[in-house]
Amino acid sequence: MTTCIVSAYSARLSALGRSGTLSRMDAEASPSRSITSHLSRAASACRGAWRHAAQLALDIALPTLCVACREPVHGEGVCAQCWAKLSFIAPPLCPRLGIPFIYDPGPGLLSMEAIADPPAYGRARAAVRYDDVARTLVHALKYQDRTDLAPAMGRWMARAGHELIEDADALIPVPLHWRRGWSRRYNQSGALARVIADQTGANLLSEALRRIRPTQQQIGLSRTQRASNVQGAFAVAADRQSAIQGRRFVLIDDVLTSGATVDACARALLRAKAASVDVLVFARVVDTHKAPI
Ligand SMILES: [Zn+2]
Repeated sequence: MTTCIVSAYSARLSALGRSGTLSRMDAEASPSRSITSHLSRAASACRGAWRHAAQLALDIALPTLCVACREPVHGEGVCAQCWAKLSFIAPPLCPRLGIPFIYDPGPGLLSMEAIADPPAYGRARAAVRYDDVARTLVHALKYQDRTDLAPAMGRWMARAGHELIEDADALIPVPLHWRRGWSRRYNQSGALARVIADQTGANLLSEALRRIRPTQQQIGLSRTQRASNVQGAFAVAADRQSAIQGRRFVLIDDVLTSGATVDACARALLRAKAASVDVLVFARVVDTHKAPI
């Protein structure tokens, strides 16, 4: 990759050199032209060279870098080494919460977490465990405008959640409060939901569920604080109730930590008489200190 950049750089430099030489020769071949004409041509050649140099500098300064290790990368923002470090979640897993099991306990057996504290939503699935590389991807998409990561992340989510998507009438991204959406310019869950809808042909319903009051960031809050922070924060718009009633949905979010946010969203949709609500996230926290069943 480094070699590629260096050769591209050399090619661009020699092209720049050639164009400069031609301009100078052209000027010398016309001694009868006025000084004004010479000055004008020289200024124009300078402007062209500067434009070329500026573009070259941009190309050199901004190659796509792997979001995790900052090495130049072709394509989708994660290099092969970092991709290999992601912990993709695969069966066997809890059919309700999507938590991976160490061994297969047999069909239909739920995790202790699902039995002890059943969520409002039906089933949850996640593409990867929320570890260091996953966290870097999520933060880059959410806070650093790396929307180029959404296609790969969405594709992995579509694969992890294909059963849920096949059963659903539409995908619903977890909404931001309008004030946060305005300051962040886009909703990362919406970006992921759009990719999944494009990939699978699923319907997307973005405007029905709303965050009706701003909430504190969930980072750093306890499980109980997270639940009370988002309680009553979501509602279905009065004029969209008919789009929800009797239909099955998959909520789309970037991360599932305690599940408080998607639980509050599911409650709001179920209050509007949704037939079922499942959850699909890019990454979920898996507590490795607890026995999974
Ligand atoms: Zn990397």
